[in-house]
Amino acid sequence: MKVHQFQIPTHLYLGPVNVHVIDAEPLTLVDTGPNIPEALEALRDAFHSIGRSLEEVQRVVLTHLHEDHSGLAGTIQRASGATIFAHPWEGDRLRGFDDYHLYVPLLERAGVPQEVVERFRAGYEERQRFVDEVGEVEGIEDGDLIDFERGSYEVIHTPGHTPGSCCLFRASDRTMIASDTVLKNITPNPVLSPDPVDPSRRFPSLIEYLVSLSRIRALAPTLVRGGHGPDVLDFEAHFHEVLRLTDERQRKLVGLLAPGGGSAWDASLKLFPTAKREHRFLALSETIAHLDFAAEEGRVRMDWEGAVERYTPARTS
Ligand SMILES: [Zn+2]
Repeated sequence: MKVHQFQIPTHLYLGPVNVHVIDAEPLTLVDTGPNIPEALEALRDAFHSIGRSLEEVQRVVLTHLHEDHSGLAGTIQRASGATIFAHPWEGDRLRGFDDYHLYVPLLERAGVPQEVVERFRAGYEERQRFVDEVGEVEGIEDGDLIDFERGSYEVIHTPGHTPGSCCLFRASDRTMIASDTVLKNITPNPVLSPDPVDPSRRFPSLIEYLVSLSRIRALAPTLVRGGHGPDVLDFEAHFHEVLRLTDERQRKLVGLLAPGGGSAWDASLKLFPTAKREHRFLALSETIAHLDFAAEEGRVRMDWEGAVERYTPARTS
């Protein structure tokens, strides 16, 4: 079973996205790149370079539904008749379903000013441009096998970066396609999301993420292919580095909280003073996820001030 990695251009500051072609029967693509002409061209060239074509793709497995990973799924489905797979916790966004209304109460609880809630809405709608509408999407679940003529990959549900993020693990050589769950040079953003089980609550992204990383560690992968940037060859070291960076950020965040308390929005402005535009949403996501983790660990206390959550450093006596 030959696995090819290709870098596909994106519209993001992050640069290209890694997609993977599993050149076996049935021909399978893991992630697609965004719905922009340069990405489609690069994807066509990628298949051509291995003597295949986009029209031959039989399966597309989407690790999660961020547009840089999933935006071309509809185009590929129409060109090839491929079956598209994604975890149901990723929601219905590939079919034009707008769930921003679920985000509004989460943002209000975090103390985000109304004009910023509207600005984030515009950003959310803007991102939909990079996703082509898809027909049928089949669900994948933890433990499912993606079978090939010879060999298989196991679906490992690794919530954190998004609720329905999945990795693919091949037990025979302990390699993993981890997408944005494992990135060599950056810690993945625990993106603010409604909880798929109860959308009136927010998903505890960072708490879940750290559990997912521990699950990956228990599989002892020898090679982890990320969604952006180079492979991770020493997952054990990577795991400890993520824990160290998480702890460092926890300490910094708790130190920045006003003694009298403040909202997650206030804290995000202090933790990431220079973040602009869509990075402001990611900065807020990171802050909220860290506050949830800090509250769980007893480092901060959360109280309600009207309809807004207010965080204060926990007393260390
Ligand atoms: Zn992502």
